[in-house]
Amino acid sequence: MTLNSFMPVKLVTGAGCVRASAKELAKLGRVCLIVTGKRSAKASGAFQDVTDTLDRNGQKWLLFDEIGQNPKLTDCMAAAEKAIAAGADFVLGIGGGSALDAAKCIAVLAANPGLTQAQLYAFDWAKAPLKIVTVGTTAGTGSEVTKVSVITTPDGRKKSFHNEAIYPVLSLGDPNYTMSMPPMVTRATAVDVLAHCAESFFSRSANHISRCYAVEGLRLLLPVFRMMAENGCDTLDYNTQEKLYCASIYGGLAINVTGTCFPHTMGYLLTETFGVPHGTACAVFQKDFYEYNKAVVPELAAEYLERIGCSEEEYFSLIEKLTPPCSITMCEDLIAASHSRWVGNGSMAKCQGTFSADMADEILRRKFLGK
Ligand code: NAP
Ligand code: FE
Repeated sequence: MTLNSFMPVKLVTGAGCVRASAKELAKLGRVCLIVTGKRSAKASGAFQDVTDTLDRNGQKWLLFDEIGQNPKLTDCMAAAEKAIAAGADFVLGIGGGSALDAAKCIAVLAANPGLTQAQLYAFDWAKAPLKIVTVGTTAGTGSEVTKVSVITTPDGRKKSFHNEAIYPVLSLGDPNYTMSMPPMVTRATAVDVLAHCAESFFSRSANHISRCYAVEGLRLLLPVFRMMAENGCDTLDYNTQEKLYCASIYGGLAINVTGTCFPHTMGYLLTETFGVPHGTACAVFQKDFYEYNKAVVPELAAEYLERIGCSEEEYFSLIEKLTPPCSITMCEDLIAASHSRWVGNGSMAKCQGTFSADMADEILRRKFLGK
C-alpha cells in the first residue's frame, strides 16, 4: 500500500473566505495581476470581493480579462507582458478552470520574459513562476489544487504541463461564486468532477490516498446528481453548491496524484474539433471507460461501485441524465487522422490493462458512427 502524494496549496474554503483571507493576500506582494474571463468573475461577485480586499490592503492591482474557454497561449503571453510592465509580484486567477490554468501559465511567462512555447513546455524556466492565487467560480476542474495547466497552443491543440512550481500558494474557494453558473455550465463542470474521480480511481498510478480522494468526491457528488436528475439544476441552494464545490476539490486532489485516463485524452479531440465544453467532452466517454475497466479489472470495478454506493444501472443512468447534450458530426477521416494521437499517449498508458489506439478508434466508431 502506498500513500505517495504532495499538496502544498493553502486551501481556504467557505462563505466569505476571500475577505477573511486579507492577511494572507497581503503577504504576497505589492502588485497583483488579476486574470479573468469576460463575465463570470464579476457576475459571481468574486471580483468585487478580491479588489475590495486588495484595495483595503493597499495592494495595487491590474486586470487582464481576455481569457476565453480553453485558454490560448497567445492570450497568456499578452497577459504576461502586462504583468511584466507593471512589475507584478503575484497572479490571481478568478474563474473556472480556464482562468485558473491561464493564471498558472501567465505566472511562468511573467517571471521569464521572452519564454517561447518550446521552453515553456520543456520546463526551461530560468526563474520560478510568480506566486499564484486561485479563486474558483465553477465546481469542476479542481485546478485550485493541481500542479497542472491546460493551454491551447497556436496549432489549436490542448496541451497540459505539470510542474510543482505552479501549485497555487493560496486557493480561495467560496461556493457562493458558483451560484451564478448557468445550468448548462453547472452540468458540464459537475460531470468533469465525476470524470476526474472515476479516471483517477481506475488509474494505474492510483494509490490508497488518491482512491480515498476519488471515492469521497463521488460520495459527495452522487447524491447531488440524484437530486439534479430528479429536479434539474436551475435552483441549487448554497448547501448543494457547496457539496459540488467540495467534490470538485476532491477530484482535483485525486487527479493531482494520478493524472487522468482515456476519456480526458479523447475528450480533447471533441473540444478541439467541435468546441464541446471540457466536462461534457470527457463525460461522453465515462460509460465506455467503466465498461472497459469492468472487462479488464472486474474486482476493482465491483469495489468502485461498492465504495461509491451506486449500482451499475444507476451509475449509467446518472451519467446519461447529467451529461449535457453533445451533437457532433464524426467521420471516418477524422477517426483515421486522430489515430496517431492515441499512440504512445501517456494518459492512455495510465489505463488498466492495455488500452490501445485501435480501441480508441472502435469507441469513436461505435459511439458516433453507430458501428
Ligand atoms: P471554464 O472554461 O473556465 O468556464 C466555462 C464558461 O462558464 C465560461 O464561459 C465562463 O465565463 C462561465 N462561468 C464560469 N463560472 C461562472 C459563474 N460562476 N457564473 C457564470 N458563468 C460562469 O470552465 P471549466 O470547466 O471550469 O474549465 C475548463 C478548463 O479547465 C479546460 O480548459 C480544461 O482543460 C481545464 N482543466 C484543468 C484541470 C487542471 O487540473 N488544471 C483539470 C481539468 C480541466 P467567463 O469566460 O466569463 O469566465
Ligand atoms: Fe477535466
